[in-house]
Amino acid sequence: MSPTILFLAHVDESGTTLPKAAYEALGAALKAAAQLGSTLTIGLIGETIQDAADSVASTGARILGISGADFAHPRYASDAAAIHAICEAAKPQIVIAPGTSRFLRVLPGVAQRLRAPVDTHLTSIDMIDGVLSAKRWFYKQRLEAVIQRNARPWILLLDSGCHQPWTGAPTTAQIHALEVTLPANAKRTAFAGIRIPNSDAQTIRPDAKLLFVAGAGWSKKQADGTTHLPEAETAILEFLQNSGASLGGSKSLVDQSGENQAVLRFMTHLNQVGQTGSTPRHPKGLSTCCHGEEPHVVGWRFINERCAINLDPNCGWARGKADVLYVADAFQVIAKLTSLLGARTTRKEAPVPVPAV
Ligand SMILES: Cc1cc2nc3c(=O)[nH]c(=O)nc-3n(C[C@H](O)[C@H](O)[C@H](O)COP(=O)(O)OP(=O)(O)OC[C@H]3O[C@@H](n4cnc5c(N)ncnc54)[C@H](O)[C@@H]3O)c2cc1C
Repeated sequence: MSPTILFLAHVDESGTTLPKAAYEALGAALKAAAQLGSTLTIGLIGETIQDAADSVASTGARILGISGADFAHPRYASDAAAIHAICEAAKPQIVIAPGTSRFLRVLPGVAQRLRAPVDTHLTSIDMIDGVLSAKRWFYKQRLEAVIQRNARPWILLLDSGCHQPWTGAPTTAQIHALEVTLPANAKRTAFAGIRIPNSDAQTIRPDAKLLFVAGAGWSKKQADGTTHLPEAETAILEFLQNSGASLGGSKSLVDQSGENQAVLRFMTHLNQVGQTGSTPRHPKGLSTCCHGEEPHVVGWRFINERCAINLDPNCGWARGKADVLYVADAFQVIAKLTSLLGARTTRKEAPVPVPAV
């Protein structure tokens, strides 16, 4: 008998649609359902879920939903109760959900209640030799595991950026509404609000098409024998503003910031890309003033097209690590790029304020 697959999602902060990662996981769930000959059930939670349900109605899947003010915001106890109730109603063998922070926090707990195994940070869900298989990386992206399990139900959380998002025209959805009665102790945590950095100060943009990496060269003495930190700050921030790129940094640069030296004030360890940093996913990457040593470049594993600007024609990028290396002064190239990008931008914006550290 073909297994029942349950796709789970929560409404995003706007309250009207699902997060992008959810449409990606839905694409993976529909593909798995087609491969296994299964029917898909969709489970949704949120304060109001009709608009989100409409957005996925053309999948033809049965939609189960739990809505109400208690499910407006992430809260472990209420989310766990809601997802558990959906699983009880759908009786799935496979549960596929997006690896959002809300679900990464709660689904392992639901797995415990269901006595189900759960795998997180998956990068693919596919059939291998006729067996449903999930892949994920271990040991800082050095080992890729293929996971197959006999235990059911099996809960799988797919990371964002790993599958094409499902798209379909919205249509009116029929929601099979489920009721959950929350005990008082499931409501003890109150949602106070979301604090996010000023949008200009938010330099890490996972959905950006371009990763812009700044290396320690930006803070080093240049041809005139002096450093140019204010110019470096302005050049990088203006480029980010005009290109919409996400900002990465080399370890050498972010370590200087951490030690309170007078370097780029918007760089933190969260920006660090590499072996002891992050492994972001972007279609393109542009490295500037960064040598391209292996412990850094290993963090570029998921960057498809790579360009680098470095004064040194023998830097690491020249040794097969970049598609194109521009042997040039990054200060000049980035200033020129920014002026070209600025000329294309019709909207004139105020200079980006540098956030306090
Ligand atoms: C266990 C371990 C883990 C590590 N993990 C990481 C990690 O996660 N991430 C990471 O980044 N590093 C990591 N490192 C450190 C890594 O090996 C390098 O030391 C680091 O990446 C060097 O940073 P950088 O290239 O910015 O600086 P540098 O090596 O100082 O290079 C600066 C570059 O800037 C160029 N330059 C200077 N001025 C200009 C200009 N005007 N225009 C163009 N180019 C210019 C120079 O030619 C030079 O190539 C790790 C090391 C170890 C041992």
